[in-house]
Amino acid sequence: MTALFFLGQPLPAHAASPSLERVNLVINGKSVISDPPPLIVKDRVLVPLRVVSEQMGLKVAWNSQKYEATLVGEGLTILLRPGQREANVNGKAVSLDAPAQLRKDRLFVPFRFVGASMGGKIDWDSASRTAYVTTASKTSSPSSPADPVGQAPGMPATPDPSNLLTPPSPLGTTTPSGAAKPSETVGSSGTVPSLSGQLTDIDWQIENNRDVIILAKTDRTQFQLSVLGEPDRLVVDLPGAKLAEGLPKNRVINLGPVKQVRLGQFREDTARVVIDLNGPAKPQIQSEPGGLRIRIPGTTVLRRTGIPLILLDPGHGGSDPGALGPTGKQEKDFTLPMALKVRDLLVKEGVDVLLTRSVDMDVSLADRGTINNRIRPDLFFSIHANAAARSEAGGTETWICAENGRSLAEAIQRKVQPATGREDRGVKQANFYVLRTSEVPAALLETAFISNAEEEKLLFSADFQDRVARAVVAALMEYLKKPMRS
Ligand SMILES: [Zn+2]
Repeated sequence: MTALFFLGQPLPAHAASPSLERVNLVINGKSVISDPPPLIVKDRVLVPLRVVSEQMGLKVAWNSQKYEATLVGEGLTILLRPGQREANVNGKAVSLDAPAQLRKDRLFVPFRFVGASMGGKIDWDSASRTAYVTTASKTSSPSSPADPVGQAPGMPATPDPSNLLTPPSPLGTTTPSGAAKPSETVGSSGTVPSLSGQLTDIDWQIENNRDVIILAKTDRTQFQLSVLGEPDRLVVDLPGAKLAEGLPKNRVINLGPVKQVRLGQFREDTARVVIDLNGPAKPQIQSEPGGLRIRIPGTTVLRRTGIPLILLDPGHGGSDPGALGPTGKQEKDFTLPMALKVRDLLVKEGVDVLLTRSVDMDVSLADRGTINNRIRPDLFFSIHANAAARSEAGGTETWICAENGRSLAEAIQRKVQPATGREDRGVKQANFYVLRTSEVPAALLETAFISNAEEEKLLFSADFQDRVARAVVAALMEYLKKPMRS
């Protein structure tokens, strides 16, 4: 399901509060400082999820909809819920004597249980109050593989010339072909930069049914624009501005000319906005009350008169794998090919389709909601695979939040369930973010359970995906009251 975020984010620096119950951790022979410190509950040591990801080499994810943490290592998937005495290890229920606990939005997990599930050796020295775990060598990457902090989400791992910490080179990347586009620099006349300025927010809109307008909210009037190529992007520096705290590091747009906007503090006195483009563009930028208005002209009409438009939303992506199957298959690797198959069939039926993502990349729930409400399609359809702690759970269900999605969801459920051939779990209602925030009819398909071994296999079979894609399209066409061409 939706809403996966990582609990391994660093805390603001603070002095660890001393405690009489202080516990030392030694992981694979190395003494580990846990911040926040471990908890002791009924003589059991609980450690922050971050320790598990950074020191024990497990990938960790938190699903706020399911209220469930997933810990993944080689051949190991653990599902844990705060307060629950039952966990799930590789599809099997296991009882815990100390359940995981949420404290101040951080999840603490039972140290011994996680170590033992990894096949590790566990010891406790009561004199020094030290818990030891030695895992079977699978800890070669101690840095958190799941922690996106410090990386532009969704960006390739290869060095990126538009990295927020490198100055924009007028030549873009050096390429043998010399194909990099020239840089243009435009600056408004303004006051001398002082350090009091801020970049407080980024918003965006569509204008003329094709242009993307990016609004950088700032009290600065001075800026420097660089137009770069390979890959095409714009860099807007704001001298004298600091990024406001808590701003997301990127905003995915994935519409028309713009992929996403990334934000960074380029230098201590300069905030940087990088706009990743789908191709070369000639931006217009102007300073207006409240900030900068950056227009990126589009080349194609986004919403064509008389032609239905559907926004497809492949769940999860990038650093958010979604739910995991018993063999380690990831939900995000099902939702994307599924959505692409649905898109291709819809296009053949003469329907226009946009996607919140068409590659494996991070797109936040907030961005999915914004894309939907800026483009206002005829309908929003999100594709997911289900998961449950009980490995036998299976079947197909469709979710809505608002009543205006009901006939859509009913059409989906009626057509898709026979295509999956799995248990009919019906149409259900819940406050899922992408449904709750949608201003247009919206439904979310939980195609089958990836946590069920049999259904995991189906979800990744091409035949099954094709069958489901055809059923989805039949349902969407029925909902749109359009006859099928094929
Ligand atoms: Zn999902």
